[in-house]
Amino acid sequence: MPQEHLDDINRAHMSSIPERQIRCPQCKKDTIYSLDNPFRPFCSERCRLIDLGEWADESFRVPTEDTENPQNQHPSQDEEE
Ligand SMILES: [Zn+2]
Repeated sequence: MPQEHLDDINRAHMSSIPERQIRCPQCKKDTIYSLDNPFRPFCSERCRLIDLGEWADESFRVPTEDTENPQNQHPSQDEEE
């Protein structure tokens, strides 16, 4: 009977991610957090990539002494020729 079928749909719906409105962490734009949004919690792929880029950039920004003696970093290319 259709009754049981409806019950199954209800159960499946309960176990899925509930749709809710969130704010994109990147551009602060209102967006929907749901299975339909593959870029959640972001509003778009662009925002997702931007966030990943910033994260990577952050990890690379470790304290170094490169700026102290930039000339030391120069490889002696003259020896190559
Ligand atoms: Zn966004």
